[in-house]
Amino acid sequence: MDKRCDCGDTQKLLLRTIIFARKVNITRVPVYCCSQCGRNEVFSGVKEDISRLIGGLGPRPVARTIPFDQIHEWAGILSAASEGAETLHKTVVTRAAEERTNELLDLWLIASSVGDENWKAELQSRLSQLNSVYIS
Ligand SMILES: [Zn+2]
Repeated sequence: MDKRCDCGDTQKLLLRTIIFARKVNITRVPVYCCSQCGRNEVFSGVKEDISRLIGGLGPRPVARTIPFDQIHEWAGILSAASEGAETLHKTVVTRAAEERTNELLDLWLIASSVGDENWKAELQSRLSQLNSVYIS
């Protein structure tokens, strides 16, 4: 899951804590980091949702910790895949994402068969977080 940095070195995908307004700790956010030039870039698969999350905190947020890997499918998958591993491998991440997608689709079929609209909507939003175009 490494990426080439503009400086010519390699950016590694790591799970980091983002501190917002010095109060809110958003933990386990997938970020590309370059150890050479120090450039940081939030993983494109979660960028939009991080912006939405931060936007929703308002101008005077209360101090708290938000475990991002529990609210975002991508962060959850990357977090699980990084457990006990030195670096994240694309094949492992791709497989984990596929398995999770199938799991969510199975659940969606169950939700659909029992006619639970709220559950269906929640699963749909989770599925939309897992867009495979983000694995590059
Ligand atoms: Zn760099």
